Amino acid sequence: MNIILLGPPGAGKGTQAKILVDGRGMVQLSTGDMLRAARSSGTEMGKRVAAVMDRGELVTDEIVIGLIEEQLTGNTGGSGFIFDGFPRTLAQADALDKLLSKVGQKLDAVIEMRVDDSALVRRITGRFTCSNCGEGYHEDVKKPAKEGVCDACGQSGTFNKRADDNEEALKTRLLAYYKDTSPLIGYYYAKGKLNTIDGLASINEVTASIKGVLDAVSEGIAVEA
Ligand code: AMP
Repeated sequence: MNIILLGPPGAGKGTQAKILVDGRGMVQLSTGDMLRAARSSGTEMGKRVAAVMDRGELVTDEIVIGLIEEQLTGNTGGSGFIFDGFPRTLAQADALDKLLSKVGQKLDAVIEMRVDDSALVRRITGRFTCSNCGEGYHEDVKKPAKEGVCDACGQSGTFNKRADDNEEALKTRLLAYYKDTSPLIGYYYAKGKLNTIDGLASINEVTASIKGVLDAVSEGIAVEA
């Protein structure tokens, strides 16, 4: 099953994608993660996008579509792809349709994680990750059990915050979401693919809502077949 997690920055897309990877063997395709990897390995493209990302603006469609194409053609997808942070524009959504059909796949569901803007600032500014293994934490809801030590890998003193997780960049990121990405809600509704869940609930409750959507969609597929 191939799905898109759609929602503003801080909606919890990355957190839920990782839960789906661990629990269902799906493959997470996060264009944000791919771009950050390109930056930290110092590729030409990584250098070109760094300032754009730090301001919270979108990088060009051409770059992210190229990244997704590379992954789709070189990856069997486990039990399905989770598109996290892609598509973010209508042009990207069109390109995704074409790329999926080129590799003999299709999109099964879009899950819109709806959250209140006022919750996003704290969600974004409080988050940090282990720079060794990438485990995500939050100052309010998910602190390491032992201060300064990663629960997942046991390394100490190696946490960092994303450069764009500050209030200024968040304003730009939210603006980009409402201007360029939120039209995708109507687009996927019209295609009969949209499922909306409450992204403000606890991590476990959101995981349960996503499971509900995936179960319903796979039952639908079984009935059709
Ligand atoms: P994310 O980790 O998904 O929040 O993405 C971080 C940043 O990477 C965004 O603010 C954009 O600058 C860039 N980015 C990630 N995915 C896309 C995309 N699909 N289209 C354009 N820019 C993207």
